[in-house]
Amino acid sequence: MRQTANHTTRFAPSPTGWLHLGHALAAISAYEAAGGGNFLLRIEDLDRGRCRLEFEAGIVEDLTWLGLQWQQPVLRQSERSEAHRAALATLDKAGLIYSCFCTRQEIVREIERAGEAPHRSGEVVYPGTCRTLSRSECEMRKARGDPFALRLDSRKAAAMTGALSFEELGQGPDGENGDVPVEPGVLGDIVLARKGLPAAYHLAVVVDDAFQDVSLVTRGNDLFASAHVQRMLQAALGLPAPLYAHHRLILDADGSKLSKRDRSSTLRNIRQQGIDAAEIRRRIGL
Ligand code: GLU
Repeated sequence: MRQTANHTTRFAPSPTGWLHLGHALAAISAYEAAGGGNFLLRIEDLDRGRCRLEFEAGIVEDLTWLGLQWQQPVLRQSERSEAHRAALATLDKAGLIYSCFCTRQEIVREIERAGEAPHRSGEVVYPGTCRTLSRSECEMRKARGDPFALRLDSRKAAAMTGALSFEELGQGPDGENGDVPVEPGVLGDIVLARKGLPAAYHLAVVVDDAFQDVSLVTRGNDLFASAHVQRMLQAALGLPAPLYAHHRLILDADGSKLSKRDRSSTLRNIRQQGIDAAEIRRRIGL
């Protein structure tokens, strides 16, 4: 990564499992990128069904063991609902949100029917089925109690914000670096909120990065496509644009991304084998 001045950076894990070697690289990268600035820990605990206090305690334990220190207090996204709701209301007022009643199965079927290729990130991109639902149809389905999600209309958002770009100091999965033009539709019309989830990942991240004055977002390049969407949300919400530095991923022996389910690479497990933090740095190529 290109050397930068003092920055505010953050490590933002979700407490849905034990941290593994990939998280160690993400956390140390964020810590080092702060230089003499501020390093923050943010707990991304919006998915209440999957988050556990035990995992949150594990995050603190593992990071302390790695020798990292962060500014207090630690921010929990679950405590930020009011700000998330306000941002959602701003997007709604600007006419950038629509209600989507599709189930995951319906989305997959629609993609197959249209013969569309899956996105290169491997993620399912919503084909926009409900974008053109009439107001009366929407109201009828809501009155009937059909579950729905609120989605960002990425075309309208792009029309409103005009052409955008973000500054990448690290490297995306295809070597992207420097001034990267935003592709508004790269992840399609993303979900902003749904029942039981007052703010989904992208919305909460941009609101909280701005709230915490994060000036440099560092994270694995599996989240590179997110920067496109997040830059667009920042512009639509009038929030400042941080710099980005995406980094390589740590892969397992078969070349796949590490998962929280894989016990052998958890920091906790490695620690219990008597391996020290210096050895972890060596294993992740630092
Ligand atoms: N909470 C996300 C994760 O655990 C990271 C969010 C981000 O760095 O933007 O993958």
